[in-house]
Amino acid sequence: MTDSTALAEDLPDLWTHEPHVHLAFKPGDSVAAIDTRATPGFRGSKSDAPALQAERNERFAVLQEKLYAASRAGDNRKVLVVLQGMDTAGKGGIVKHVVGAANPQGIRYASFGKPTEEELSHDFLWRIERQLPTPGHIGVFDRSHYEDVLIVRVHDLVAPEVWSTRYDIINDFERRLVLDGTTIVKVAMFVSLDEQRDRLAKRLDRPDKYWKYNPADIDERLLWPKYQEAYQAMLERTSTDWAPWHVIPCDRKWYSRLAITELLIEALDGLDLSWPPADFDVEAEKKRLAEA
Ligand code: AMP
Ligand code: MG
Repeated sequence: MTDSTALAEDLPDLWTHEPHVHLAFKPGDSVAAIDTRATPGFRGSKSDAPALQAERNERFAVLQEKLYAASRAGDNRKVLVVLQGMDTAGKGGIVKHVVGAANPQGIRYASFGKPTEEELSHDFLWRIERQLPTPGHIGVFDRSHYEDVLIVRVHDLVAPEVWSTRYDIINDFERRLVLDGTTIVKVAMFVSLDEQRDRLAKRLDRPDKYWKYNPADIDERLLWPKYQEAYQAMLERTSTDWAPWHVIPCDRKWYSRLAITELLIEALDGLDLSWPPADFDVEAEKKRLAEA
């Protein structure tokens, strides 16, 4: 196959399409219509997931190491993964089970909660800029600058005249990052209201999960339609050629993890990384070592 739907050479055949084909947000797509239980592009089942996840985690880890190695040889490139989703969507699981497969040395993780006084005294991108990945690193944003057009919009934490200008500001900001060698992978994770109830209930049932429970999550849950509106606007206004959004159905954790892993592998594969050649004489060094 040579057309644009050709599968990446190493894509496991449990996928019928490269994940981004089904998952890329397209104009006209509706957040309210997302089937959060669906497994687009995947023909396998849950029982295939553990082995495949393990195999693809390894592939991801090798690519991440190549990115890191390339930076040691002067390559300026980096990757920024943006995870957005309502509580319980599974952002933490992606960090642990997907990103966690890589060497932490090359990962720059940042989570963004309610801004501090100091953060509020600056422009909304101030705290974001401080956490951007440096060359060779994969930055992972667990929530992000998009909170400033999501929770901030839903709760009118700033005036509409202010948040409404942020979509364009974000697009310009991301454009600048891309021009500076960043590949941006934006992932919007969606669970259904029912699935969220089950996941919150689990947190209340298990003492080892209480720490994840926040009574305020219920308040946000009650605002679901307003959040859907805000997510819709976010996808429509900030899915750009240089930083497109991917919409991930997340009611089945095994699927969302596999899908996001493939998106990361695709992004890294697209960088065409290779191991930096030795900048010393390998044979001479072997000889020196043997004699040392
Ligand atoms: P968690 O990710 O569960 O630790 O929750 C963090 C909370 O901080 C979420 O309710 C976010 O919506 C909220 N948050 C993140 N960024 C902002 C922001 N810029 N303004 C207000 N709240 C925010
Ligand atoms: Mg939470």
